[in-house]
Amino acid sequence: MRRFTLLVAIIMALVVPQVINASNGVTYGPSASAFSIETNESAQQVKLRIYKAGLGGKPVKTINMKRNAAGSTLWQASVKGDLQGMFYTFDVKYGGKFMGECPGIWATAVGVNGHRGAIIDMVNTNPQGWSADKRPNIAAKDLIIYEMHHRDFSIDESSGIQHKGKFLALTEPRAIDHLKSLGVNAVHILPSFDYASVDETRLDEPQYNWGYDPVNYNVPEGGYSTDPYKPEARIREFKQMVQALHKAGIKVILDVVYNHTWNIDGSNFQRTRPDYFYRKNADGTYSNGSGCGNETASEREAMREFMVESVNYWVEEYHIDGFRFDLMGVHDIETMNTIRAALPQDIFIYGEGWSAGSCAIPNEQLAMKANISRMPGIAAFSDEMRDALRGPWNSNSKAAFLGGVKGNEESIKFGIVGAIEHPGVDYSKVNYSKAPYATEPTQMIAYVSCHDDMCLVDRLKASIQGATIDELIRLDLLAQTVVMTSQGVPFMLSGEEMLRDKQGVHNSFESPDSINHLDWGNLERYPQVMEYYKGLIALRKAHPAFHMGSADMVRRNLDFLPTENCLVAFHINGRNVPGETWGDIYVAFNTHKRARTIEVPDGTYTIVCRNLKCDLTGITTVTAADGKVTVPAQSALIIHN
Ligand code: CA
Repeated sequence: MRRFTLLVAIIMALVVPQVINASNGVTYGPSASAFSIETNESAQQVKLRIYKAGLGGKPVKTINMKRNAAGSTLWQASVKGDLQGMFYTFDVKYGGKFMGECPGIWATAVGVNGHRGAIIDMVNTNPQGWSADKRPNIAAKDLIIYEMHHRDFSIDESSGIQHKGKFLALTEPRAIDHLKSLGVNAVHILPSFDYASVDETRLDEPQYNWGYDPVNYNVPEGGYSTDPYKPEARIREFKQMVQALHKAGIKVILDVVYNHTWNIDGSNFQRTRPDYFYRKNADGTYSNGSGCGNETASEREAMREFMVESVNYWVEEYHIDGFRFDLMGVHDIETMNTIRAALPQDIFIYGEGWSAGSCAIPNEQLAMKANISRMPGIAAFSDEMRDALRGPWNSNSKAAFLGGVKGNEESIKFGIVGAIEHPGVDYSKVNYSKAPYATEPTQMIAYVSCHDDMCLVDRLKASIQGATIDELIRLDLLAQTVVMTSQGVPFMLSGEEMLRDKQGVHNSFESPDSINHLDWGNLERYPQVMEYYKGLIALRKAHPAFHMGSADMVRRNLDFLPTENCLVAFHINGRNVPGETWGDIYVAFNTHKRARTIEVPDGTYTIVCRNLKCDLTGITTVTAADGKVTVPAQSALIIHN
């Protein structure tokens, strides 16, 4: 008898491999599939249902799952037969009531709209050559991030891309060549896990959403696949996208939204472990630090574990290179540090170091921007530099540095050094942070626009009355020069290189394609913009002086020239920067409508950036005979000897 049990155990171990997460999900085996789910202690019963389709129809089997051991919160079932291509749901009973069917929190494949888990063999989802796919080796200090939405990028006819609005768009030469030509080396894709707001059964109709409404965290979104009814399609196509980008030397960063879910009542979290995953206020109401009606409780053991295992899963299964944490300030510091420690060092991690409302745990424990120094290896967006350039976040029409408004200079300088401690910055005059928050410059994301708020041209139009197109372009190029010469990690919104506009819409999360689409025709209409961006990115990549990557080096080698209203200038001693071929480098930003001068030692300098041109091989030379060089009106200037 005993020998028989042992034999069964051995056979089961052979045919039923371990589930990726021991506490939730399904593991497919050709002769049996194993199911498991973790519940709260008070769970009374768990029903497992097997279906032929991802939507509709009656279950072909209903199984009462069994506790792993008496009193255990782990429920298991093994179902004999080859279930490949079938679907499943769990339904957990609490207080005499079933919570409703769901795929659990650990589905790695789902049917249309993510209502049911899918039973597939993940090996079949790997594109050809997938085992040879490797994450490109690019250090954090060398990253140039391009933030994009699948639909924005390719949906317009002018894109010339075949798979419009799909993962596969990024496998096409037209897309890859554009990104390579621009020079970016990381794409940050807006939420690409399965989200709720696009109905995958109606993809023949135009539907748009950014996707900050998570349903299944560990499955790609069906709306971006060619067939959301086929569970393998979205997985394979996502991998094809990663593979194509990696071949082009471009990293793939996933925008992850663990801080809240689409809803509470119907969420997979709530249906499996009611109230465990969400924070509550003292009065028993749900806390809403996300501004979306709920906030998750990263400080709880199973939520923390879920986040750690989820990001690890994306790295292992999909070869993801980095994560951008939406409202990272809703998560606790310990969780972010646990995630950092659990991921390979080359995985880049950054996030929004703020929340959208007050959270139910104290700010000192939260992964806020001000606490970044307690999270080594994790970066936060700098709203200091962004708002000092374009204007404050709480207004769509107030101008700042770009609009010729004085008083933003120290905030620009704060962004130039990468939010680290630097003797040349007067922190008392910085707009938000009155102290450096980063220990290393790679802990700050430098940017002037992202999917949130107006894109750059719209903001310039809204904040500078009567600006001509020439002026808009000058200021646009100037703004990105500040970003690309920052010691932080530069980040740009997709389409800025095409002088994208969103017709003034500042929160376009569900706006139609006519607002959100990139108009690739602008590449011909305003070729000087793409040319300048290319030149600027090439300049940054070729010159380590602009991305030293170490706070000590920045403090030693970068010094500011005297600050004047609407004029910020700095010098880098390139001789002390390993790998740098330039000697003295001077960078100046002048947002006056008239030319200004900066003081430099006498000598001849090569101009690499001025007015509408940026070319690292040199535009012309300038001789400073009286210790001065001119910075044209509304222009950046970069010179070196
Ligand atoms: Ca979906």
